Amino acid sequence: MDTTLLRSGLIVDGLGAPAFPGHVLLRGDRIDAVLREGDATPEAARHVDATGCVIAPGFIDMHSHADWQLPLDDHPELLSSMLEQGVTTVIGGNCGISPAPLRHETLGRLHDFASIARDRPFEYAWESFAEYLEQMGKGKPALNLAELVGHSTLRYAGSDAARGPMPREDLSNCLDRLRQSVEEGACGLSFGLGYDPGMYSPLEELQAFCHVAAEADATATVHLKAYSRISPCYPLTTPEAHNVRALREMLEVARQTGVRLQLSHFIFVGRRSWPSVEACLEMVDAARRDGLDIMIDAFPYTCGNTTIHAPFPHWFLAALPGAYRSRLARMRLRVELELGFRLAGFIYSDVQVMDAGVEGWEELNGLTIAEIARKWKTSPFDAMLTLAERSKGATTMLFHSYSGEPQDQHALETVLGHEACLFETDVIVKNGGHPNPAALGTFPRILGPLVRDRRLFNLETAVHRMTGASAGRFGISDRGVLASGKAADVVVFDAAQICDTPPEGKQPAGRSRGIEHVFINGAHAVKAGVYQSGVRAGHVIRT
Ligand SMILES: [Zn+2]
Repeated sequence: MDTTLLRSGLIVDGLGAPAFPGHVLLRGDRIDAVLREGDATPEAARHVDATGCVIAPGFIDMHSHADWQLPLDDHPELLSSMLEQGVTTVIGGNCGISPAPLRHETLGRLHDFASIARDRPFEYAWESFAEYLEQMGKGKPALNLAELVGHSTLRYAGSDAARGPMPREDLSNCLDRLRQSVEEGACGLSFGLGYDPGMYSPLEELQAFCHVAAEADATATVHLKAYSRISPCYPLTTPEAHNVRALREMLEVARQTGVRLQLSHFIFVGRRSWPSVEACLEMVDAARRDGLDIMIDAFPYTCGNTTIHAPFPHWFLAALPGAYRSRLARMRLRVELELGFRLAGFIYSDVQVMDAGVEGWEELNGLTIAEIARKWKTSPFDAMLTLAERSKGATTMLFHSYSGEPQDQHALETVLGHEACLFETDVIVKNGGHPNPAALGTFPRILGPLVRDRRLFNLETAVHRMTGASAGRFGISDRGVLASGKAADVVVFDAAQICDTPPEGKQPAGRSRGIEHVFINGAHAVKAGVYQSGVRAGHVIRT
C-alpha cells in the first residue's frame, strides 16, 4: 500500500498535548504511526522532509458555506484558497441553509435564499439528505464534507407557510425530516435566525427543533437573531441591547432543551456593541458553569460577509419587491436605517460590496456604499437601495466594524482568546468579486500573528481549537487528531513563517504564507503551498 513518511517535524496532535519532535507515517488513507524522534524510522515509498515545521491534523473549518460550491464540478479551483490555508474538512449547512432535504414543489424558496451563498446555480439531483450526501460523494469533493441540516431548509421542505408560526402538522412534518436527516448522516442542526424565515420563527418552534436535536444527540449551531446593539430583528423600542437579548433567548432555549449549542460567529457588529463583549462572554460562562454544553466560534478579522438585505427591517423585506418603489416605504426605511445605524455605531463606509450580483456592474466590487454614492452622485441610502433592488437582494457585502476595526481589536481578541472559542471562516467564496480576507488567511493568521507574535494562546491550544475540538463538537471520531488509525488528513506548516498577508491594492489580502504541505485522506493535495490541480480526495462524513 502507498506509504509516506513525514520526517523530523514538531508533532502537534490536535488534542492539546505538548508538542514533541517526531515523524508521522501515512499508509493509504490512514495514519499508520506517530513516532517520536529516536524511534526507528520505518520504510516508506515516499518521504517528505518536515524539518523545522509543525506536523498537525488537517484544519476543520467548523462554520463553512462551501457546501454551496461543492456541487459545482470546478469547485476545487473555487476552494483552492481553503486547501492552501490548511483546511481539509468543512462543516457545511450553517446559518439555517443546507441544500437538503428538499421538496421539489418548494425548491424555489430554498434556491432564492441560497443565492447569496452560491457562485452560480446547480442542479438539485436529490430530495432526501441521504440522496444528497450520496451525490456529494459521487462528485469527488476536493475537501471532506460533514453537513448540518438547516432549520430554514427544513421549513421550506416541510411547510408551505412562508414565515411565522406553522400549523401543528407542518411543524411535526419538519421535525420528522430533522430526525430522518440526522439518521441519514447530518452532523447536527443549524439555525439562521437573522434571516427570513428564521427571524420570524417563534421561540416555541426553536425549542421544538432543539428538543429533537437533543434527543438525537445532535449539536445545534445558531446564527443568532442579532449581533448589534440595535438590529432589524427586534423593535427599535426594545430596551435591552438586541445582541444581548438574542443571546439570552438562545441560552434559555438551551437550558430548556439541554441541546448541545454552538454559538456561530460570535461577533459584535457596530461600534456600540463592542463594550458588551465581556458581559456576553460572562453569560456564556455562567451557562457553562451550570453544566450546559455551549461553545462559540469566531474568525480573526474585523469584517465579515453577509447580504445587502441584512440591515433591512422585517416590515420592509416582507413587502418586497413593491416596497422598493413605494415613496412611503422608502421614507420610513431611510429614517429607520439612519437611526438604526447611529444607535448601532455603523456608517455607510463600513459596508463594502463583495459581489454586486448585477451583470455589468462588476466595477462596483470592492467599493463601499459611500464610494458608490459619490460615484453615482446620490445619497448612500439611495445607492444601497438601488443596488439591492437591481440584484434582488443577491449583492454580497463585506461589513466592517465586526468586533473592532484594524486599529482596535480588543473585542475580537477577547473572543478569540476565550477557552470555549473554536476557529472558523464563515466565508462565501465566489468566482469573481472582492474576496473576504478570511477566505485566504484565517488559519495562518491565527497561527502566526495571534499565536507566534501576540501570544494570545499557545500553539497546541490553537491547533486543538481548529482540529480535535471541532471534530469532537460534531461527533467526527476519526479526524482532527494525529494518531494511529485516524484518517490521514495532515498539515505541515512552518511556524516561524506562517501568516496571512496584508491587502495588495484592491485585494483585501494576498496569499497566505507558511503552509507547506496538505494531505487529505493520504493524498498530497498541497505541495510547497500550492494546491495540486486535479487532486479530489475528500470524503463525505456521515456521523
Ligand atoms: Zn451566519
